Amino acid sequence: MSHAELLARHRAVMPAWLALYYDEPIEIVRGSGRRVEDAEGRRYLDFFAGILTNAIGYDIAEINAAITEQVARGVLHTSTLYLIRSQVELAERIARLSGIPDAKVFFTNSGTEANETALMLATQYRRSNQVLALRNSYHGRAFGTIAITGNRGWSATSLSPLRVSHVHGGYRYRSPFRHLSDEDYVRACVADLRDVLATTTAGDVACMIVEPVQGVGGFTLPPRGLFAAFKEVLDEHGVLLVSDEVQTGWGRTGDHFWGIQAHGVVPDAMTFAKGLGNGLAIGGVVARGELMDAITAQSISTFGGNPLATAGANAVLDYLENHDLQANAAKLGTRLLTGLRAATEHNEIVGDVRGVGLMIGVELVEPGGDTPNPRAAARVLEEAKARGLLVGKGGLHGNVVRMAPPMTLTEDEADEGLEALVAALESVRRETT
Ligand code: PLP
Repeated sequence: MSHAELLARHRAVMPAWLALYYDEPIEIVRGSGRRVEDAEGRRYLDFFAGILTNAIGYDIAEINAAITEQVARGVLHTSTLYLIRSQVELAERIARLSGIPDAKVFFTNSGTEANETALMLATQYRRSNQVLALRNSYHGRAFGTIAITGNRGWSATSLSPLRVSHVHGGYRYRSPFRHLSDEDYVRACVADLRDVLATTTAGDVACMIVEPVQGVGGFTLPPRGLFAAFKEVLDEHGVLLVSDEVQTGWGRTGDHFWGIQAHGVVPDAMTFAKGLGNGLAIGGVVARGELMDAITAQSISTFGGNPLATAGANAVLDYLENHDLQANAAKLGTRLLTGLRAATEHNEIVGDVRGVGLMIGVELVEPGGDTPNPRAAARVLEEAKARGLLVGKGGLHGNVVRMAPPMTLTEDEADEGLEALVAALESVRRETT
């Protein structure tokens, strides 16, 4: 089947609202290390790690062995009716890593389900359907998670009965508090939170959910300590704090294992997915035991925590630890961020370069100003692809180019990717100015 035919069939049978990258979407058929190959034999350096799913990269012997061993046993079974050793072991590890006291873990198949579960826990525990979230956030595509998503490009279809209020803080570049010092920015966001609590809620809020670094929102980076300051206010009102670690977990931010830890605060629950499975479908919630046990009705997940996904995920955690990939993310993240800042200093379509660890965003603007430039971002993706580099897109206006390579990235690959991205940005600047 030709590429054109596959694309036509995709368009005919899949929903129109599914996001596909590129004028000529690619079909990835093979992968190795940090590189993937398409059906035409073209190779790309993957600076988006799937969608931050392939935390370690492609075709990793240790992960393959764990999966193959499970397949060889012939047991690919349902998940919550029987005891599964790899599931219990994985839950224990995640509970321990979470730093949450008396933590318990529930496994799902995706980040959306993880966040839906966290919403269910918090609303049950607090007997309230009022939730706080951040502007510019993304939390998933089901009924509750779409409602709390603070980006109407993704959330406009929600008619959820949840009561949701959004606050400032996550996205600084286009915030009214942008030009304040870190301290004053935090102060202004806390004042906004207090105001939202007092004026838009009945005071009975279940939880606040935050992404420590907004992912789909364009790798935004709030000042350290913002969420600790929020937590003080939340504690005054008995509101739970949920950290959505779907993109920021597993050491990707370099400085900490979980993104929220950079703020010196322990949340009541964290949700996770993406990188844990290195491509296998697994997600979950880790929460204080008392909160996790708030549900009194029976519940089940047919596939959540299945033996294949949990065997693979344990191997992923082993690999992350044995190769100290968090330290590698910190080191190469700094190399990419400083390199990118220096190389784009005079590029008039680059409004902001930001990030932490291996989550780096470049916000593109109309030359010389700060009007969002989504067309330039789409063009940069094409130009990078033409140079053998895959990067991601995001941001409230679709104008942020995102880099999030596998955490096994080498120095040479970092430099190669950086060179290709800088050339792509330069080429788009020339056609724009
Ligand atoms: N939360 C965050 C922060 C995400 O980035 C995503 C997906 O991009 C989700 C939740 C939803 O995860 P999933 O697509 O696995 O349902």
